[in-house]
Amino acid sequence: MRRWLSGRGALAALVVGGAVAAGGGWRALGVLLAFFVSSSALTRGGGRRGALQVAANGGVAAVAALAARLAPGAWLAFAGALAAAAADTWSTEIGRHSPTAPRLVTTGRRVSPGTSGGVTWLGSAGGVAGAVFVAAAAALLGALRGAAGGAGWVGGGAALWPVAVGGVAGAWADSLLGATLQARYHCAACGADGESPLHECPAGRRGRRVAGLAWMTNDTVNLAATVVGALVAILPAVFGVPALPSA
Ligand SMILES: [Zn+2]
Repeated sequence: MRRWLSGRGALAALVVGGAVAAGGGWRALGVLLAFFVSSSALTRGGGRRGALQVAANGGVAAVAALAARLAPGAWLAFAGALAAAAADTWSTEIGRHSPTAPRLVTTGRRVSPGTSGGVTWLGSAGGVAGAVFVAAAAALLGALRGAAGGAGWVGGGAALWPVAVGGVAGAWADSLLGATLQARYHCAACGADGESPLHECPAGRRGRRVAGLAWMTNDTVNLAATVVGALVAILPAVFGVPALPSA
C-alpha cells in the first residue's frame, strides 16, 4: 500500500472505502478493490496517489454507493464511475506501449506520448478492457444485483454493458477535456511541457500556463470523467430499459 498511496492518500482511500462499504458491504468494496489493485498494478513510476487523486477517482463512486441505499439504480452509477476511472488509467498505462505516436482526440494531430487528450488504438483498447473488467467484477460480485433486479450471488449481468459503456464514455470525456480545457504549462527555462507548473526543472523554475483553464487540472478532468461514467451507466435505468428497473 505504501507504494501506491501517500499518507493523506491512504486517509482519503479509507474514507472512500468506508463510504462504499457502508453503502454496499463487501460486494461493493470488492468492486472498488478490483479497480484500485488493477490500476495501481498497471501504473509504473507514476508516483503514489495523493488525497486529491483518490477523491477524483473514487469520490463519485463513494457518493453513489451511499445513494444506492435509497435508490438501487445508483449501483449503476457507482460501477460506471469506477469503470470510467479504470478505463482512464488502463488506457494511459497500456497506451504507453503503443508502437505509434498518439494523436490528439480533437484534431488528429500527432502529439508526444503522455500529452493530455492524445489517444492511440492500443490505449483505447486498454480503456475498453479496463471498463469491461470493472463491469464484470461488479456483475460477478453481485454488486449490480439490486440495480438489475436479479437474484443470487452472481447478479446484475444485464447491467454489465451499461456500466462498461459508461466507463468507455468517461474515458473519452477525459481525453476530450484533456485536449481542450485542461490546463497546460510550458517552462521557458528548460522547455518542458506538462499538465502541472511543477516539473523536474534543472533551472528550478515553474511552468507558465499556455492553454486551458487554471482550475481544470488532471484531478478535475478525472472527476468529470467519473461523473460522465456514472451518468451514462445509469441512463438505461432512468429511461426504463426493460431489463432494468427504474432508478
Ligand atoms: Zn523547467
